[in-house]
Amino acid sequence: MNPQCSECGLHYEREPGFFFGAMYISYAFSVAIFVAVGVALSFLGDFSLEIYLLAIIGVIALLLPFLFRYSRILFLYLFGGVDYEPAYKKKVSEVG
Ligand SMILES: [Zn+2]
Repeated sequence: MNPQCSECGLHYEREPGFFFGAMYISYAFSVAIFVAVGVALSFLGDFSLEIYLLAIIGVIALLLPFLFRYSRILFLYLFGGVDYEPAYKKKVSEVG
């Protein structure tokens, strides 16, 4: 993850350890995936517990890069006091 925005220079880690809170969002995503894969498998057939666990762990492992990034993005939007403002760069270049 980049330490700051290449467009506007915003430092993403608002304070030391800021992204520890993103773990809770990542956990919520993981639980949602766990339930979704479990329910999907239960509709697809009668599988053993090992198949369920392997499928769920496999899907979560595959989605880990997305979980990592999107949980941080969501946490930054919810608790970082950051809003996306498309005109920001333009404003800066007009001023400077
Ligand atoms: Zn930016």
